[in-house]
Amino acid sequence: MLFFHHSSYLTIVQLLPDDLEKYVQTHTSAESPLLHQIHRETYMQVLYPIMLSGPVQGQFLKMQSIMMRPKNILEIGTFTGYSTLCLVEGLQEGGKLYTIDINEELETRVRGYFEAAGHADKIDFRIGDALEIIPTIDATFDLVFLDADKINYSNYYDLVFDKLSKNGIILADNVLWDGKVVQSPPHDEDTEALIEFSKMVQNDKRVENVLLPIRDGVMMIRKL
Ligand code: SAM
Ligand code: CA
Repeated sequence: MLFFHHSSYLTIVQLLPDDLEKYVQTHTSAESPLLHQIHRETYMQVLYPIMLSGPVQGQFLKMQSIMMRPKNILEIGTFTGYSTLCLVEGLQEGGKLYTIDINEELETRVRGYFEAAGHADKIDFRIGDALEIIPTIDATFDLVFLDADKINYSNYYDLVFDKLSKNGIILADNVLWDGKVVQSPPHDEDTEALIEFSKMVQNDKRVENVLLPIRDGVMMIRKL
C-alpha cells in the first residue's frame, strides 16, 4: 500500500515548453549508466515513476552537494534512490547520508542500487514514517532534501530546523506543484499545504530563500 498523495503525479511535471525543456536536457551532462538504469527500471517496473527527479534535477542536486561538501545529508522521500545517489556524490569523507521512505515495497530494489553504486556504506536508509524517524536521528545536517508527502512539508521543516547547521541548506522539491500554486481556489490539500509552506518560509526571519523554477520548483533555504 502506498501512503503518498499522488494526485498531481498523473500528469507530466514540466514547467517549460517542450522545445526549451529538450534544449535544457541536451545541455546538461548525461546521467551515469547506473542512474540511467534506475530511471529506466523505475519507469518500467514501479508505480508513479514521474516522482523520480530525472537527469536535470539530479545533476542540480549533485552539483549542489559537490559545492557544499556536506558532512551529513538528510533526504526525506527516497523513492527509488535516484536523488539519493545524486546527493551522495558531494558527501565529505567520513560523512553520512540519511534517507527515509515509508514505502517498504521498494526497499530491496533501492538497497541493491546503493550497493551497485558502491555507496551503501555511506547511506543510512530508514524505512518508516519520516515524522517519527527524524527525531530519532542524532546528527546535524548541512544539506536536507525535502521530497516526501507534501502535506507534511511544514512539519518536516519544523522537525529538521534545529538539526540544521548554520548556513545549512534545505532544498524543498515540487513547490510549484505543476503550476497549481497559482491557480484559483479551491485547491486540493497538497496544493494548499505547499502554498502554506512557501509562505511560511518566506516569512521566516531565521532563513533566506530563493525559489528556483527547476523542474517542478525547488525552494532553496539557507539557515542564517
Ligand atoms: N526523492 C525521490 C527522487 O527525487 O527520485 C522521489 C521521492 S517521491 C516524490 C516521494 C516519496 O516519499 C515516496 O517514495 C513516498 O513513499 C515517500 N513518503 C511519503 N510519505 C512519507 C512519510 N510520511 N515518511 C517517509 N516517506 C514518505
Ligand atoms: Ca520530487
